[in-house]
Amino acid sequence: MSAGPPVAVELRRVEVPLVAPIVAAHGVESVRKVVLVRVVDEEGRSGWGECEALAAPTYTSEWHDGAWAVLRDHVVPAVLDGRPPKVVGHPMAWAAVEVALVDLSLRAADRRLVDVLGAARPAVASRAVVGIATDPDALVHAVGERIAAGHRAVKLKIRPGADVEPLRAVRSAWPHLALAADANGSYDLDAAQALLRAVDDMGLDHVEQLLPAGDLVGAARLRQLTDVPLALDESLVRADDLAAAVALGAVDVVNLKPARVGGLTAATEVARVAREAGLRVLCGGMYELGVGRAVSLAVAGSVLVSDGADIGPTSAYVRRDLVPPIELDADGALPVPHGPGIGVTPDAAVLEDVTVERWVGERR
Ligand code: MG
Repeated sequence: MSAGPPVAVELRRVEVPLVAPIVAAHGVESVRKVVLVRVVDEEGRSGWGECEALAAPTYTSEWHDGAWAVLRDHVVPAVLDGRPPKVVGHPMAWAAVEVALVDLSLRAADRRLVDVLGAARPAVASRAVVGIATDPDALVHAVGERIAAGHRAVKLKIRPGADVEPLRAVRSAWPHLALAADANGSYDLDAAQALLRAVDDMGLDHVEQLLPAGDLVGAARLRQLTDVPLALDESLVRADDLAAAVALGAVDVVNLKPARVGGLTAATEVARVAREAGLRVLCGGMYELGVGRAVSLAVAGSVLVSDGADIGPTSAYVRRDLVPPIELDADGALPVPHGPGIGVTPDAAVLEDVTVERWVGERR
């Protein structure tokens, strides 16, 4: 195992164009910006992590520029000094460093993340996520393309006014498709109740995060009114949040995103709370690039997750990735990368091409 703090930490701002703008209730993105973290030990070995914070603080309070500053000015100096960062919040920034440190220590010990997590599956069932659509015909076409590509399950992004009609169009076209919806917290209680009444007969796999993140009491009220399984995503920043949601009776399905909850240790804790409560757990994505996606797939294929991955191949949304493409197999599943450490290593030439800023901190 790697001993002591890393001798250097490199941060890179990476920008990759999206295949098409991503439209969700929290905003529109056309370029995927991430911060890539590389930690280096005394023997020159590297470990990698990826900060998934979006370009603007619209999904959660974290955002790309803020994460860059928090990493450079607070998290990395503490890690280089060998002390825990005194940072409140910013779980995605910390997750990137935690994953990089885990990757480094696993590589130093010649071990793999999939083995450490307890991987039950070499590949995980995927679910295509399709952005908000107002034209039902275009939506049915887009969903058809994803099904033709091999997906067996689909989640539609919805918001008030772009919800029942699109869902009904897809349900009519594919009566038996595993279909879910994600509102990204864009409903109030009255609108959420009306939506759940309107979709009650659609046989949805689940409806995710109708109410804003902090409204667990409202989420519990909704759950008393419907038999549609209700998922939480943005509400679950820490394992304590899930414990509160369970105590209130506010959740059926946990969308576990390792980055959003603050890394692998935190994800393991959230999964433990979910398992003890008998909840379904799926592993969600953040439109991450290959480093983050490898970690998501390792988690999705592990004992932490019961319901596969809410994600597809990165080629569905970015024109270029840092690692070789991970594509759907013949069964519509995504293979879990099985290389050393987190399973993948960024391609050096691609990394140079897509880096727009670089910063290195060294142990004093
Ligand atoms: Mg979600």
